[in-house]
Amino acid sequence: MVRTGRRPVGRAILAACLVVGALVACTGTPPDADRARRGAADAGDPYVPGRGNGGYDVAGYRLRVRYDPADDRLTGHATITATATAGLSRFNLDLSGLTVGAVRVDGAKAGHAHEGEELVVTPARGLARGARFTVDVEYAGVPQPVESSTLGLGGFLATADGAVALGQPDSASTWYPVNDHPSDKATYDVEVTVPDGLAALGNGVPVGRTSAGGWTTWRWAERSPMASYLSTLVIGDYRVTTGTHQGKPMVTAVAASLPADGPAAASLARTGEVVDFLADRFGPYPFESYGGIALAEGRISYALETQSRPVYGPGFFRSGRPDTGVVAHELAHQWFGDSVSLARWSDIWLNEGFATYAEWLWLEHDGGRTVEQTVAARYAATDWSQPSVDPGRANMFGDAVYQRGALAVHALRRTLGDDVFFRVLRAWTTERRGGNATTADFVALAERVSGRRLGALLDAWLVGGTAPALP
Ligand SMILES: [Zn+2]
Repeated sequence: MVRTGRRPVGRAILAACLVVGALVACTGTPPDADRARRGAADAGDPYVPGRGNGGYDVAGYRLRVRYDPADDRLTGHATITATATAGLSRFNLDLSGLTVGAVRVDGAKAGHAHEGEELVVTPARGLARGARFTVDVEYAGVPQPVESSTLGLGGFLATADGAVALGQPDSASTWYPVNDHPSDKATYDVEVTVPDGLAALGNGVPVGRTSAGGWTTWRWAERSPMASYLSTLVIGDYRVTTGTHQGKPMVTAVAASLPADGPAAASLARTGEVVDFLADRFGPYPFESYGGIALAEGRISYALETQSRPVYGPGFFRSGRPDTGVVAHELAHQWFGDSVSLARWSDIWLNEGFATYAEWLWLEHDGGRTVEQTVAARYAATDWSQPSVDPGRANMFGDAVYQRGALAVHALRRTLGDDVFFRVLRAWTTERRGGNATTADFVALAERVSGRRLGALLDAWLVGGTAPALP
């Protein structure tokens, strides 16, 4: 994610790691053993209380959604395939503000209660540990946006010509029932039905479009595991361009109210070029499709790395000039954050530090500031009292995560040299592809690949309280 204008954020109360020099000490809440029969109501991540759930692991979501901009009403049918990780008499899904009509588990009517933002499901028969099961949820209502204190407006936002579902760290539960935490990634098959003439854009490969009775159904498939906050839905009047890049589908969409030859369109048109630049450094692009979506909706004041198809708010292009730095940032996340995902939000520097550094690499390549110039400026501006790891929920999109995180990446590069440094990055994106990882996992991999002890170096750059000497 990048905010428009990349404004520094204000100071925030920190919940830093207790022990400098022990990155592994920054852990979330341990699982609660006595929740085994009733699946936990959250993922135990203090950055997103109430989000995610315990007791099962989702393999796939099949979503059939119909949305009418005339009355903002959404009707949905979600089919969720999961495996019980404990014996379960009941379990929770996250679902905000919509009304549930019926729930079935393995085809049998199940009990359900909507308690706040938790949908509590009681199957007719308990689920054995290891059992694979299917949940069907029928639901409807007028979905709502989420005002986040850290990121700004997200969730499901009705716009002048349609809607946008977007947001980090959570947004998905505003339009479908979900285990809304990145630790439970899953595949997605999405069908979206909208009035003829509107586009309905999602993640992944386009798998057909049909029209009947004044409505058009757009189908999308994301077959690589995806964290729920990376799912998006964009409905409205868009110029959609479909082509191929490196043999895979490339779908870009620019709001029809933006100029066809304007800065947003020009920036997105360089998506393939930027991806290839990044793939040369990070390893093969991890997904089956490419693209990007440029919004005209001014209330979205950020860009987000929604999987395979980032969404860009209009603020990046307001100057009238293209901004490929933000494109490089969001595309770098496809490796760092989307394919290799964090296991808990306190490690968000693993996403943002690398994406910010990729932006610096791209700008140098594209004839802008050199990396060394950027590093010198950021180093001078860094507040070393703010840690990159476990920065506190209120500061998860702060400079310590983005700029200090990227400086740590640069320090690692200078310490190891380019050859070993990029080998470390390619080993990370290869070995952890499609999964989840922690800061401690990264340190261990970097030490193994380089054959060097790096804990003290990364501690100093990520969480130490004073400015380390530049290597
Ligand atoms: Zn980012």
